[in-house]
Amino acid sequence: MDSTGIQQNSAHQDAIVALSEVLGPKGILTRAEDCARYATDQSGLAGTAPMAVLRPGTTEEVGSLMAICNRHGLGVVPQGGRTGLSGGASCPPNVVVISTERLSGIIEVDEEAMTLTTWAGTPLETVQEAARAVGLEYCVDIGARGSATIGGTIATNAGGIRVLQRGMTRDNVLGLEAVLADGTIISRLGKTVKDNSGFDLKHMFIGSEGVLGFVTRAVLKLHRHVPGTATALLALPDHAAALRCLNVTRERFGSRIVAFEGMWPDYWDFVCDTAALAVSPLADKYGFYVLIEVDSETGRAEEEFEELFADLFDREIAVDGVLAKSVAEAQSLWALREAVGEVDDAFGHHINFDIGVSPSALGAFCEAADARLATLKEAGGVIKVGHIGDGNVHLLVAHDGSTAAEHRIEAEIYAFLRDWNGAVTAEHGIGRIKAPWIGCSRSPEELAMMRALKTQLDPRGILNPGALFLD
Ligand SMILES: Cc1cc2nc3c(=O)[nH]c(=O)nc-3n(C[C@H](O)[C@H](O)[C@H](O)COP(=O)(O)OP(=O)(O)OC[C@H]3O[C@@H](n4cnc5c(N)ncnc54)[C@H](O)[C@@H]3O)c2cc1C
Repeated sequence: MDSTGIQQNSAHQDAIVALSEVLGPKGILTRAEDCARYATDQSGLAGTAPMAVLRPGTTEEVGSLMAICNRHGLGVVPQGGRTGLSGGASCPPNVVVISTERLSGIIEVDEEAMTLTTWAGTPLETVQEAARAVGLEYCVDIGARGSATIGGTIATNAGGIRVLQRGMTRDNVLGLEAVLADGTIISRLGKTVKDNSGFDLKHMFIGSEGVLGFVTRAVLKLHRHVPGTATALLALPDHAAALRCLNVTRERFGSRIVAFEGMWPDYWDFVCDTAALAVSPLADKYGFYVLIEVDSETGRAEEEFEELFADLFDREIAVDGVLAKSVAEAQSLWALREAVGEVDDAFGHHINFDIGVSPSALGAFCEAADARLATLKEAGGVIKVGHIGDGNVHLLVAHDGSTAAEHRIEAEIYAFLRDWNGAVTAEHGIGRIKAPWIGCSRSPEELAMMRALKTQLDPRGILNPGALFLD
């Protein structure tokens, strides 16, 4: 290896030289110590340091890089903030990374059209702040907002806590620019709300996890920012009561419901007692807990919440509750739900399932999954937390850390999920970790169509090899 590290893989040396000619020294990293931190994402999947990290500054540069990689049959892993949880940004051997680090910044905020145009590498939080500065709001919101990029959230069709109110990322993107494997640039950065002139091609790239194209720019849909919110925690007998509670809350607040999050008692007890990650504001233990946040534009949200509480108690839907009276109190209620990030570290070896089923079936699904897991000697403790209105549960199942146990538990849960017409991933994507299980959600015909699309757009299979599909 020379001082640049380029000779790590001599088969691709010519390609790396050509790539560095496009980018100049600022745009390419090839030293092993520089490349090592790009090996993987937050999924914990072990990755390999890429042969080089390419840091283009324009769409045209991305086009040139892709064309070179395609010519040389060199695999490309697109990377944003590397906060992905499914190993989609984790590198297999002998690939280069194209990072959006230098494709960053807000291009324009159009207050009249209520849109924001941005480079793909801009962190989600930067976009949220830019919109808020003019009284508007970008409503996709996830815990990793400080590091996750717009390109990454588009590539994974990220969800988060506001899906109930504003939909997934797919519902919040108006225009998109992407570069195909052969370097072709597909650019449609218009702000047209209505456009029926043929296929809406942007949807092909949204949620495609970097296997169909590299996203460079996007036009995002904004909403008016409502400055106030009100937050409450309710204790209920069970999940069925939580669904009734959601209906009653919808009757009162309609589209003002920002979040409606559910916590099962196993999660609650782990967070409040076992790991002591947050403090319960309730004196007793209950069968289910929901955290509700609503827009409080009217300034009457607290009063409205009190009326909601009275209604729910009268109808015996809820049995206890706390209404946040200050921002600090609201934050401490949110700490109970957001502790899920720390639970990941505190729960020992586990699988974090990200399952989607019909919202009305979620409670029954979780009961059935619990019963099934109780019969599996490989499964340890189970905890459940999720987005109730979206039918999305994060089901964490502890095990002894062995691959065999992991595989046995996954096989059991994913096979069983077929009967519920469910999704093996509701939010985080297939990536590399869930690639073996995609067939439990999608029919052979659907998979054949996905592969045909992939082959058409990327015949040499250079884009994110090993993600989404096993080969
Ligand atoms: C604390 C925490 C909380 C989270 N909460 C949520 C949540 O509530 N909901 C949710 O959906 N996810 C959540 N995630 C997962 C993660 O943040 C999202 O998947 C996010 O969208 C990834 O963005 P990123 O920029 O980090 O992408 P990366 O991790 O870098 O990449 C993710 C995938 O997108 C591809 N990709 C990245 N950039 C591009 C591009 N420009 N063009 C084409 N493909 C690209 C990569 O190849 C990879 O397949 C959470 C993660 C953490 C760590």
